[in-house]
Amino acid sequence: MKQLALKEGNIVIVGQFDKSFENKDYEVHFNTETGVEVLKGKDGKDPFKTELPLLFDVGIMGYCLNSCPFCYQGNKTEPHMTLENFKIIIDQVKHHTNQVALGGRGDPNLHPQFKEIVEYSRNNGVVPNYTTSGINLTSEQIEISKLCGAVAVSQIFSEQNIKIKVRRKKNGRTNL
Ligand code: SF4
Repeated sequence: MKQLALKEGNIVIVGQFDKSFENKDYEVHFNTETGVEVLKGKDGKDPFKTELPLLFDVGIMGYCLNSCPFCYQGNKTEPHMTLENFKIIIDQVKHHTNQVALGGRGDPNLHPQFKEIVEYSRNNGVVPNYTTSGINLTSEQIEISKLCGAVAVSQIFSEQNIKIKVRRKKNGRTNL
């Protein structure tokens, strides 16, 4: 982690960063722990015209165990992405991007190599994030998720879970 003072006109941004990359048009500085990201154009260039998105999506899931009637993924079934292919993607983009959103057709935490995927991404300086239904989320998956920058639980499933819990409580059940 190094401290940088980045000057743009009359503004100076001072921060701690552990990942930096640049080309002739821009420079990018990122803190993989806090998620703070600073982009700076060179010679008046637009810093947002980066070579690759600084956060990109990778669909690691080929099928989903949930059966939402509104499924925007078409309820198709295909193989999950292999760990080897995921590694190839990360190796190709890690010097130009900072974060990866794990997704695809289903809950990324149910990928058979979820742990290896999250660890490989984090160990290569690309912070993993993902969204899940939260259904049957295990303690082990929660532990692995601590390597992620952010984990979101879909509101619709949260609301369903809350309703189920409330219903169970009304029925006097204690195994919530
Ligand atoms: S959780 Fe997502 S991918 Fe799975 S069925 Fe529902 S909408 Fe489709």
